[in-house]
Amino acid sequence: MMISPLHRYLSELLENLRPMTSGNLNPVTEVATDPDVNKVGITLTTVNGHQYSSGDSTHKFAIQSIAKVFSYGLALDDLGPTEVGKKVDVEPSGDPFNEISLQQNTGRPDNPMINAGAIATVGLVKGKGGKDRLSRISRSMELASEGSPGELEINRTVYHAENIGGHRNRALAWLLRSFEIIDSDPEPVVQDYFLECSTDVTTENLSMMAATLANKGVNPVTGREVFSEETTRQVLAVMMTCGMYDAAGNWMIDIGLPAKSGVDGGIMVVVPGQLGIGVYSAPLDRHGNSVRGAAAIRRVTRDLGLHYADAA
Ligand code: GLU
Repeated sequence: MMISPLHRYLSELLENLRPMTSGNLNPVTEVATDPDVNKVGITLTTVNGHQYSSGDSTHKFAIQSIAKVFSYGLALDDLGPTEVGKKVDVEPSGDPFNEISLQQNTGRPDNPMINAGAIATVGLVKGKGGKDRLSRISRSMELASEGSPGELEINRTVYHAENIGGHRNRALAWLLRSFEIIDSDPEPVVQDYFLECSTDVTTENLSMMAATLANKGVNPVTGREVFSEETTRQVLAVMMTCGMYDAAGNWMIDIGLPAKSGVDGGIMVVVPGQLGIGVYSAPLDRHGNSVRGAAAIRRVTRDLGLHYADAA
């Protein structure tokens, strides 16, 4: 079989990353799925829908925080940026993802990429057209990943672990209720948040989702609009400033692209108008970002000149 230069490049890239053994597993991941720390996968998808993968690109892992991007997109499409902005701001917090930080007096979370903001955002998404909130969130992830192999399913073991250990997220949901940021029973909201985070994906899925965002919200394979152009623009802007937990500033300097990471080891990166990238490796740095995943993206961005400030 002929191996394309891009495939060769990606497989060399991963071979160089394999010896990197630093990082720790997310405790929920460790208990729930005991992942193989040696697995590393990467997929690039062009805005024409062509996929290039290397390594463990069909390995399934929980999407975790990357799901926050899709519930935020759905809330924006449903309600518009002004209404959503009344409940969830768009400012980087610089705090860790699970910080109990809500703005004084109003209780508004700083942004939708930290847990408080993401839980508030899930609460803004309502059932519609005979579909409940969770099916609508799941559907938006499916529509964005369509054209990549496999179906998205909720990993019940991860969900169970998130649910029984999710005291802080539950507390955040009740705090949001006390400020009327959440306007209904917080328990079903936090349940749907746990469930969206427990959706299993591969780097092929993540990369197609990223390519959809790179393609102004239109899935490059199916041609279906997942989010409006205006929503996609706002989602990418928030990913750019708030997507990498409290490492977002350094990520901007190094990589200079909108991205979102999840504590199972996935990172989704968007190169607007060009590419979507999905990468996976379970061990995390102290901010909760995949060590090998971030290193892979750093290398690809530099080699292909993708940093926004390097654009010709
Ligand atoms: N479900 C995880 C939590 O809420 C998601 C965290 C993440 O990926 O950042 O703690």
